[in-house]
Amino acid sequence: MAIPRFWREIPSRYNLYGSKCGHCGTLDFPPRTVCPECGRRSVGKMERVKLGGKGTVVSYSVIHDAPAQYEMMKPYVLAIIEMAEGCRLTSQVIDVDPAAVKIGMPVEAAFRKLGSEGEAGVIHYGYKFRPAG
Ligand SMILES: [Zn+2]
Repeated sequence: MAIPRFWREIPSRYNLYGSKCGHCGTLDFPPRTVCPECGRRSVGKMERVKLGGKGTVVSYSVIHDAPAQYEMMKPYVLAIIEMAEGCRLTSQVIDVDPAAVKIGMPVEAAFRKLGSEGEAGVIHYGYKFRPAG
C-alpha cells in the first residue's frame, strides 16, 4: 500500500488519483497504463482523475494473523472499498473497532506517514481509510 515514487513527487501527494480509460471510460485505482477492462494500451489516452476520498465498504476481513509490519496493531481490518467515483480498491480501515465495521459503511481516505529511511529521509506515505464523518 505504499505510494509509488511518482505520486510523492507531485505537489498534491495527499490526494488519491485514479486513471480513466480514454477508450471505454473505465476508472481505475491505482492509475494504470493498460486498461484492464478493454485491454487497450492507453498512452496519452489515460486521463488522470482525482478521487474525492469518499467511499463505501463493500467487503471486509478482520485479519488476526498479521504480517510482521502490522504486529503492533492487530487485529486489523482489510476492506474492499468502492469509491464514490466507481472504482474499487483494497485498504486497511483504521480508527475503528473491527467489530464495528459493516458492509455499506461510509469511509474516507486518510494519509499516514508509514516511516522514513536512509540519510535522505525519504518518507513513505500510505493511504488508509477511516469511518467517514
Ligand atoms: Zn478501457
